[in-house]
Amino acid sequence: MKHFKKLLSELQIPESKKQFLPGGYQQIGDIAILNLKKEVESYSSEIAEFILDRFPRFRTVCLKEEIIKGELRIPAVKVIAGEDRTETIHKENGCLYRIDVAKVMFSQGNKFERMRLTSLVKPGETVIDMFAGIGYFSIPIARFSKPAKIIAIDKNPDSYRFLKENVRLNCVQHVIEPLLGDSKNIEFRERADRIIMGYLPNTGDFLPSAFKLLKFHGIIHYHDTFLHTDLWKKPIKILDKEAENAGFRMKEISYKHVVKHYGPKIDHVVLDAVFEKTMT
Ligand code: SAM
Repeated sequence: MKHFKKLLSELQIPESKKQFLPGGYQQIGDIAILNLKKEVESYSSEIAEFILDRFPRFRTVCLKEEIIKGELRIPAVKVIAGEDRTETIHKENGCLYRIDVAKVMFSQGNKFERMRLTSLVKPGETVIDMFAGIGYFSIPIARFSKPAKIIAIDKNPDSYRFLKENVRLNCVQHVIEPLLGDSKNIEFRERADRIIMGYLPNTGDFLPSAFKLLKFHGIIHYHDTFLHTDLWKKPIKILDKEAENAGFRMKEISYKHVVKHYGPKIDHVVLDAVFEKTMT
């Protein structure tokens, strides 16, 4: 990626426009996804053809039209060169993810988080992935961490379809139970040692539901967005308050980290919080 902009400068476009060329692209399987500044959007076909020519691993180039929007995190991308398809198989850390880049998102920002969580889950744990998507967290945990069970919930029928397919593709049907539904009110018997809340923003709204699914002792991996100036006081206060409302006590924050920049002065953060029940 380091030399990408330099390579692109070979393009036959006006010199004055070259400063607006992209510094990279997102790679999902054999699809390259471009995010172009408006100054060079009219050269999108030239840029896309250049990528197909120079990087034979790509069969399709897509253009990101808008940022990922809405509760169900549906991206807006269109094919601009190569094979006319948006479905591919993405490989990451030994896991396979079938995905349609026009229907569901794949967050590169969470790559480190996926490996970090995998290293934390202990053999025999029950894990609930409240916003499982296509299995970003659940698949590597199922493959490498020996949990007893993972309940992976998603509300988006497209994500759920790929989640089920990815469970099969990675041969983890014995570990992951995919569920289609709203994790705010979905009902099942199991309670979790560990809950993953990989959703943004306003994730705090889902904390009351998360506590209903937690064992007497358990961990919540809480992702959310906060103003940089509110770190870390505000997220800790929210966790504390919601725990108390649900009859839990927060024992410790074992980890807190800025995952990525989310917006002007806003950060996407993750906190690992350990809880115990105070009343039954
Ligand atoms: N954890 C993923 C990662 O690492 O990239 C990100 C998943 S994406 C940001 C959030 C997912 O939550 C989407 O697949 C969306 O369909 C799902 N979702 C949104 N609201 C939901 C709800 N109320 N119940 C269950 N899933 C929900």
